[in-house]
Amino acid sequence: MDNNCIFCKIINGDIPSTKVYEDDTVLAFLDISQATPGHTLLVPKKHVENIYDYDQQLAMDVLTKIPMIARAIEKSNPKIKGLNIINNNGEVAYQSVFHSHIHFIPRFTRDEDDFGMRFKDNSNAYTSEKLEKIASSIRENLED
Ligand code: 5GP
Ligand code: ZN
Repeated sequence: MDNNCIFCKIINGDIPSTKVYEDDTVLAFLDISQATPGHTLLVPKKHVENIYDYDQQLAMDVLTKIPMIARAIEKSNPKIKGLNIINNNGEVAYQSVFHSHIHFIPRFTRDEDDFGMRFKDNSNAYTSEKLEKIASSIRENLED
């Protein structure tokens, strides 16, 4: 736990989040920016800054969950046509939160405005009820 880290605070329950999946080692929750509807983050519960800090065990704990989360997101909304899975490391690579995380960004069309490595911030368009509705439809589709 890093006291200055926003994701550690989310993991610890000090800051609310809309959870999608949780086990002993990882947490998945909706990204507040919702670059596209369903935009999800997967984080190790252990505070590591970036991918370079993963040992074999942490890589097993986190990276093996990717297909399960991806399938749940894909099944959660029939309008989802594709999914970008992105991990930014370092400020120059557009990492802005220095607790390692994997982005899952559902794609609905190739024309989504401003889609790129720098994600659009749509947080103003989402109430906590709207986020909960998206998260619950992802949770309902979680399977091993
Ligand atoms: P990065 O830019 O480091 O690849 O991604 C960090 C992500 O964390 C951004 O997409 C941003 O929207 C998200 N984020 C930052 N603060 C919070 C927060 O308090 N709650 C949630 N759910 N997401 C956050
Ligand atoms: Zn942290």
